[in-house]
Amino acid sequence: QPHQPGIERLMDPPAEHIRPDYKGSGKLAGRRALITGGDSGIGRAAALHFAREGADVGILYLEEDEDARETIRLVEAEGVRGLAIRGDVSDSAVCTDAVTRTVETFGGLDIVVNNAGVQYVSNDLTDITDAQWQRHMDVNINGYFYITRAALPHLGQDSVIINTSSINAFAGNTSLVAYTTTKAAEMGFTRALALQLAPKGIRVNAVAPGPVWTPLQPASWGPVDPQAVADLGKNTPMQRVGQPSELGPAYVYLAARDSSYVTGQTIHVNGGMIING
Ligand code: NAD
Repeated sequence: QPHQPGIERLMDPPAEHIRPDYKGSGKLAGRRALITGGDSGIGRAAALHFAREGADVGILYLEEDEDARETIRLVEAEGVRGLAIRGDVSDSAVCTDAVTRTVETFGGLDIVVNNAGVQYVSNDLTDITDAQWQRHMDVNINGYFYITRAALPHLGQDSVIINTSSINAFAGNTSLVAYTTTKAAEMGFTRALALQLAPKGIRVNAVAPGPVWTPLQPASWGPVDPQAVADLGKNTPMQRVGQPSELGPAYVYLAARDSSYVTGQTIHVNGGMIING
């Protein structure tokens, strides 16, 4: 089920990307960010929180539609610079170009958020086609690698990389074997890179969301059914899905100096699901 552009506007209840009363305090003033999948869902939440904290924000997104334009309008309304780049993260050259354009536009790059992801549901391993399996690897693993490798020469002391993983990397998921495999790989990537880059003063961390109300979630693929949304959260102790606005502050924490001694770690934002690892 590839991303369906524009579907977020049909979601009921609507997705909230930043709480109206979220007060920025300049934590990211002068910082320059690039967020993959920043047009929608959790990536858009990160974009709007970063902008409210004073960062310039570039987003890399897949499909041309109103989502990216709307995100950039909201970013610029915070008084910072926004940049929308359309392209597929599974293409190494596209990633290099996106990083170059961000650096040229903003004069540098300090924050990289690897977040663009795809998810195909299959109840049985034998249902997964070669193309679906490969697409998971290309976007969810290779995309994180291509963007990060292209960004590294531009990242100085105190830069950060934040990878969006998932509760599924820790808990597994019967209908998301390919997806879960990639989300666990992102955790290995996060940890290995954190060790490699610590001496350079570059921090690498992950956010592992539980069920969040975004177009990635099954209920939003068809006609949007409020009961289906409620059901998505029934496995969490809080008995509800999270809103993207509840994820944004975790990205701010990992991007800001507040987390200056934190690297190689994962922040779990999942309504209380207790996991090992
Ligand atoms: P979303 O569909 O709202 O956003 C994903 C965005 O990624 C899309 O808007 C699209 O522009 C972008 N994208 C997809 N493929 C791309 C490609 N090949 N090249 C460039 N951009 C591409 O979904 P979301 O829920 O906000 O997902 C963001 C991240 O959060 C993903 O990594 C996902 O695995 C993770 N996550 C989501 C949930 C959840 O419940 N929604 C839970 C755990 C983890």
